[in-house]
Amino acid sequence: MAGLRELTPGAYHWQSGSNAGILVQDGQALIIDAGLDRSAAADIAQAVEKLGARPVALLITHAHADHSGGASFLARRAGDIPVLASPFEATIVRHPIWEPLYLYSGAAPIEELQHKFTLAKPYPVTQEVEPGALEIGPFRLEIIPLYGHAVGQIGVVWEDVCYTADAFFPPDLIQKHGIPFCVDLDAALESLARLESAGHRWFAPGHGPAVQSPAEAVAANRERLLRIRELCLEALRQPAEPADILRYAAGALGISITQPVAYLLAQTTVLAALTSLQRAGLAGVETADNRLMWHRT
Ligand SMILES: [Zn+2]
Repeated sequence: MAGLRELTPGAYHWQSGSNAGILVQDGQALIIDAGLDRSAAADIAQAVEKLGARPVALLITHAHADHSGGASFLARRAGDIPVLASPFEATIVRHPIWEPLYLYSGAAPIEELQHKFTLAKPYPVTQEVEPGALEIGPFRLEIIPLYGHAVGQIGVVWEDVCYTADAFFPPDLIQKHGIPFCVDLDAALESLARLESAGHRWFAPGHGPAVQSPAEAVAANRERLLRIRELCLEALRQPAEPADILRYAAGALGISITQPVAYLLAQTTVLAALTSLQRAGLAGVETADNRLMWHRT
């Protein structure tokens, strides 16, 4: 359900298909994430206008199209405000073709990947931000690394509110999607641990409602990522190809994948789980009969 919620004075959570954050201080606004497209961005811009605040900057937590697709529209409508992102994610905001490209192993992407859900409109990021303290207009922020769901995803802490991007999904979304998107499973687990031990008053995610304790969502996300990793290892009772491992894990989780894009997203998470197993010394990979074969070590 779309709507604007004030979490603490001046800290707003715009909840929609994908969420945004709006910080307001001294009549100025900082916007966190831009929504999927022009229509989502227009809703966010309107919410800022209703608050009577002048936008000073747009900060993109990560370049996935559902969070950055509205950036060009939102930044222009707000008067060409600066757009900020981490160095890695900035590259993708500037060149959104990277998203379908990496989902398709670096080859020219199939047409199914070239729609707005995986291919955003380009926008020139004006400032690259690293984890640490950051001052923008009247806002004193802390940028925190929340890597794993995306390579360079960041979270934003302002006073006692933490905007957590897609570091965790609400438990019901985990149930619904089965295999949450993840490019680095170990980094994603680290990000969950970071949020679990953080003492903020509110945690405002990129999907679903803000929560005062992330414990339940962190547990559900961690459990699912570890389960996927365990299923990948289970699939290696005998050497297997990534496609067979994915099929095994999806079957065990009761998931039926019905679209190429959903398959490619799930594939990324399974490959991330296999890399995690290799890092842990539990699995290895080699070629045999012109196949890419994973095995237990
Ligand atoms: Zn995302």
